[in-house]
Amino acid sequence: MKFNEFNLSEAILKGIEAMGFEEASPIQAESMAPLLEGKDVIAQAQTGTGKTAAYGIPMLERVEKKGPLQGLVLCPTRELCLQVANELANLGAYKKGVKILPVYGGTSIERQIRALKGGVQIVVGTPGRVMDHMRRKTLRFDDLAVAILDEADEMFDMGFRDDMRTILDETPETRQTCFFSATMEKDIMDFSRKFQRDPEIIRI
Ligand code: AMP
Repeated sequence: MKFNEFNLSEAILKGIEAMGFEEASPIQAESMAPLLEGKDVIAQAQTGTGKTAAYGIPMLERVEKKGPLQGLVLCPTRELCLQVANELANLGAYKKGVKILPVYGGTSIERQIRALKGGVQIVVGTPGRVMDHMRRKTLRFDDLAVAILDEADEMFDMGFRDDMRTILDETPETRQTCFFSATMEKDIMDFSRKFQRDPEIIRI
């Protein structure tokens, strides 16, 4: 399926075109419509399948320019954080007024705090550093509309389960919640059940 067959704005289509994407990958084709409608999704998808754009495109569509923090992507590592933030920035390059900030540990928190104060619409963070900002009240989720848990199984394995729960508990219940995971073991399904409403289950 081509991207212009989905109900996407000109700005986002331009970003997709600039990235050189032509056809939607299977995970993108399956998850685009439910995510654009605001539905919860739990998807089994490995790295390399185009999962970042699968959740990133609908998230960028939903986020209001220059608004409060509306999108959160949690991911297990600094490398993935940077990679995801970069991909979202490229896809959203023509939607001016949407700032994306990677937030991970092992680096100056002061710089992140300054960037957050300047106004950010999407945060891509590791659970530990996001918790740190939450405690300092430098990250507030009162207006969060979309929460994505990328490589959820990896975050479980790394011991972030309690942090993931604490973070999601700080966000409005009205949010859209999506899990992307390479595996769909029982504990992921059980966890997701607590935070999702009637999710669409996608296996590629
Ligand atoms: P991901 O699985 O999100 O890590 O993406 C893997 C790679 O595929 C990244 O370099 C993406 O930029 C690229 N990619 C994602 N979607 C598409 C697409 N529809 N067509 C071509 N490349 C894509």
